[in-house]
Amino acid sequence: MLNNIEITEIKELLSSPKKITIISHRNPDGDAMGSSLGLLHFLKQLNHEVVYISPNEYPDFLAWLPETNKVVIFEREYDKALPILQNSDIIFTLDFNALHRTGDAMQKTLDTLTNLMIMIDHHQLPDDYAKYTFSDVTYGSTCQMVYDFINTLGYNDLINTEIASCLYTGIVTDSGSFRFPKTTSETHICVADLIEKGANNSQIHSALFDNSSYARLQLLGKALQNLKVFPELNASYITLSQEELDSFDYKKGDTEGIVNYGLSIEGILVTAIFIENKEEGIIKISFRSQGGFDVNEFARNHFQGGGHINAAGGKSFSSLEETAKQFITILAKEN
Ligand code: 5GP
Ligand code: MN
Repeated sequence: MLNNIEITEIKELLSSPKKITIISHRNPDGDAMGSSLGLLHFLKQLNHEVVYISPNEYPDFLAWLPETNKVVIFEREYDKALPILQNSDIIFTLDFNALHRTGDAMQKTLDTLTNLMIMIDHHQLPDDYAKYTFSDVTYGSTCQMVYDFINTLGYNDLINTEIASCLYTGIVTDSGSFRFPKTTSETHICVADLIEKGANNSQIHSALFDNSSYARLQLLGKALQNLKVFPELNASYITLSQEELDSFDYKKGDTEGIVNYGLSIEGILVTAIFIENKEEGIIKISFRSQGGFDVNEFARNHFQGGGHINAAGGKSFSSLEETAKQFITILAKEN
């Protein structure tokens, strides 16, 4: 947690109406959006003027979160986003540890700003750009950090249904529905309070996970057919080419969670999904591991990425086949 002096200073900052902007990482997930919108609804309760700017579009399965219709998309609405950022008294940066995580376009703008920033994030090795840095890798989600942040400021009473629903969402998605190792008794105590304050847990799970199109399930079928297993390396991977994505009418968010199937096979400790993105000219990669295999380090060392010990991402500029081959070659070498 932030120290007492920092908390006092932030409380003082928030004691009169301010222009506040909240930003999260590119390709926002449940935790990025849940924490950002949760914090937005909280700050509105304190009478601030608050805008959430996402670098790019958010997936459909998060569209039900309260006030997603007011989210400003930086890469599509640059002319609107720029003055909002420039005129902010405070910019909260949520669920990322370095400004480049907002993507090339937004980073360029952020690099020119001198506004006061506050970071709330649970990724390793935070950069030092914020005046106040609440960074803690022991948390399973930024949403749980925002919950503790609100409580530490002494505003637990202000948590309403909207805030609770947003924060619950990121806790569920980043914890794999409460099963990943960073899920603690504190997580469950937090979630109990959020349910008490109006988060409809059952409905939220349904909104998040029971919203597939038929095409998305067919795409999942294709992904599972493409799954390759390397028992001697305790490894597996899935590939999805642009052509395959197109043939199943791919929409943002459709590949969310598919990577985890590679880890559900007995004996597999590390897995990846390689997804071709012709428009960006990259292979987007997600890594997952169990136990001591550190995919954050692996992604940093080999695939221009990062993340957490057991969940990370990266990218490659080689072909899909080449990238998958590299993954296996590196694992074989490091084994
Ligand atoms: P996912 O695989 O679900 O997209 O991401 C897993 C974790 O790795 C998340 O915490 C995410 O923020 C992080 N991550 C994903 N892609 C990248 C990347 O390209 N670079 C870095 N530094 N982190 C990433
Ligand atoms: Mn997160």
